Amino acid sequence: SVPASIAAALSAGARQGLLMKGGVVIETAAKTGLVAFDKTGTLTQGRPRVTDIVAFSGSEAEVLALAAAVEHGSAHPLAEAVLERARADGVAYAPAAEAAALAGQGVTGKVDGRAVFVGAPRHAESRAPFDGRARAAAEELESAGKTVAAIVVDGALAGLVALRDEPREDAAAAIAELKAMGIRSAMLTGDNARTGAAIAGTLGMEHKAELMPDDKVAAIKAFAAQTPVMMVGDGINDAPALAAAGIGIAMGSGTDVALETADGAVLKSRVRDVAALIRLARAAMANIH
Ligand code: ADP
Ligand code: MG
Repeated sequence: SVPASIAAALSAGARQGLLMKGGVVIETAAKTGLVAFDKTGTLTQGRPRVTDIVAFSGSEAEVLALAAAVEHGSAHPLAEAVLERARADGVAYAPAAEAAALAGQGVTGKVDGRAVFVGAPRHAESRAPFDGRARAAAEELESAGKTVAAIVVDGALAGLVALRDEPREDAAAAIAELKAMGIRSAMLTGDNARTGAAIAGTLGMEHKAELMPDDKVAAIKAFAAQTPVMMVGDGINDAPALAAAGIGIAMGSGTDVALETADGAVLKSRVRDVAALIRLARAAMANIH
């Protein structure tokens, strides 16, 4: 039978929006040595906004229209931000033909018979050469913590769109709280190294950037060889990493897939609730031994 202190912790947690699927989750959570966080939608608000548009050929409106045409069918948060900006600026476009997502890279499609790619500069560079000016522009935006989407048309770089996704209000405080509890925090992101370093630096945590979905699983396993790992993610692309960690926690606003795969959830999307959940688990275990 479940020890009384564990049963009490499960129901106390549920009242505060800290869901744990059973007593084993409490035992595992209490031992956490490192918390790995997905960036987008977990440490950040997940609502990126377009901050800059740089045109290398044509106008800024034309660059935005090309990006919107290809992002039209995508569910990625970056895609929603591009479409929102196109609406706000009154930029008209026709959805691209043959639109397809390349996980961890970007999207592709055909606009007026031209092949268009919109996505991470490091993946765009294999499709179009970046000259010195383009590389400098992208690096400056990334060093400011912005995600850059490069727009490539028939093998030529047409422009850049920069987006910024602000950290959640309580993210830095949550990382500091975990540190005070003796727990390491690491940010895992598909974003480029400069953007990742800028945001992780603001939050005072470790980070691993430029990760494809499979790399996130590998990163979790590498951490797990050092210390018990808890993975916290909001869902999009996170299910494999949540499953790979000793314990996977979904952030409340995430997808149903994440909730199903996870061992628990913090329903109110507060990063500090991750520390609260571990504190609760530690207290319950302390009452047993
Ligand atoms: P994250 O780990 O930040 O959630 P993803 O794995 O979803 O990132 O994507 C990795 C990178 O690929 C993004 O940072 C972005 O540069 C690029 N990317 C992915 N999807 C899109 C898209 N629809 N539009 C533009 N860029 C994208
Ligand atoms: Mg994500």
